Amino acid sequence: MSKQVSNPQTLEWQALSNDHHLAPFSDYKQLKEKGPRIITKADGVYLWDSEGNKILDGMAGLWCVAVGYGRDELAEAASKQMKELPFYNTFFMTAHPPVLELAKVIADIAPVGMNHVFFTGSGSEGNDTMLRMVRHYWAIKGQPQKKVIIGRINGYHGSTVAGASLGGMQGMHDQGGLIPDIVHIPQPYWFGEGGDMTPDEFGIWAAEQLEKKILEVGEDRVAAFIAEPIQGAGGVIIPPDSYWPKIREILAKYDILFVADEVICGFGRTGEWFGSDYYGNSPDLMTIAKGLTSGYIPMGGLIVSDKVADVLNEGGDFNHGFTYSGHPVAAAVALENIRILREEKILERVREETAPYLQKRLRELADHPLVGEVRGVGLLGAIELVKNKQTRERFEGKGVGMICRGHCFDNGLIMRAVGDTMIISPPLVISKAEIDELVAKARKCLDLTARAVLG
Ligand SMILES: *Cc1c(COP(=O)(O)O)cnc(C)c1O
Repeated sequence: MSKQVSNPQTLEWQALSNDHHLAPFSDYKQLKEKGPRIITKADGVYLWDSEGNKILDGMAGLWCVAVGYGRDELAEAASKQMKELPFYNTFFMTAHPPVLELAKVIADIAPVGMNHVFFTGSGSEGNDTMLRMVRHYWAIKGQPQKKVIIGRINGYHGSTVAGASLGGMQGMHDQGGLIPDIVHIPQPYWFGEGGDMTPDEFGIWAAEQLEKKILEVGEDRVAAFIAEPIQGAGGVIIPPDSYWPKIREILAKYDILFVADEVICGFGRTGEWFGSDYYGNSPDLMTIAKGLTSGYIPMGGLIVSDKVADVLNEGGDFNHGFTYSGHPVAAAVALENIRILREEKILERVREETAPYLQKRLRELADHPLVGEVRGVGLLGAIELVKNKQTRERFEGKGVGMICRGHCFDNGLIMRAVGDTMIISPPLVISKAEIDELVAKARKCLDLTARAVLG
């Protein structure tokens, strides 16, 4: 199963994995052969595995752990709420204080005019909610034929059938099929798909695909356009500067709703509360999750503008909800998490100090022979691994990203590989010294990867 292990318990846990655990997004055959790495504890920006290795978590769990690991305040908020009211639903004309207080706090930090929140258990459920809400919205307005939602190829909107349908991941579409009336346009991924165009030319081209699709489907049939401000799971794809202004111009021409999937960009990742603030976009709906609770407990939601909520108010029953919508313990943790983000001025520090520092240090890796591009915004970063720096030619079929990821894991750093793009999204509380450590380890792993693939 595994290579050498020093802790016999590691083998026991790996055996349990083999015998009983069906893991998400994993190749089951490979997982059985190698066994999972077992993460046992965490503090600050560090994880420890069952072998006693200390690992700098360059991915904040899975883009989640904004305030870092080991925050007692969050555990205490959960414990206190569990003792007082561990569960009650928010269906059928009931509510409880934590969910109401949280809705108010989110309205305070959300963009102007976005004052309503529908809570869910995850980001995927937030996007499921969006799909039903948006179609319901147009039906109330007497335009039930406005059903089509436009997403983007290689966008990620979660793993429920609606989330995967809205997203543009071919591998997910192939397993389980798609919900009808969802269509996709190309992504603004200049490094991978920009060809001979300049980034700005390509950004305009990619944005124009939205207008082309609206006209092809018919404005009278399009309900909404959904996009991440910055694609996360697709490979930290930072759109060219020309992209969002052109998209805004197109959206202003047509009567369709704009949905920002803020599951990664929300709650400070870019140094602003939301990625939409960073880009100056004005969505009608925003999906949230991940940083909302720093991942300490599952919670997601959909922030809804006054414009949409006013129509819903006229529509009678909204036949939608989850048992755990607005779960009181999750709401209490989210409230405490947002309190920490505000009182410790974590966004200000990201914006003014650590994001500029991380971006400067990361870009020093651009001189490495394997690196074709380094890009990033806020505390998001991507490193493109290439065979030829000038032509952006890839190492076809060598799995260079996974080789690099393996070296990172073995050398105390978690960087994720999306194909041959290495990505990072560390906790928002990362210090400059920890950024230095992250970049030094990344360079070492790039060297080890270069030795492995260039020989
Ligand atoms: C993670 C993610 C989701 C899905 O959230 P889950 O909580 O895993 O359901 C949706 N959208 C984006 C942009 C994400 O990164």
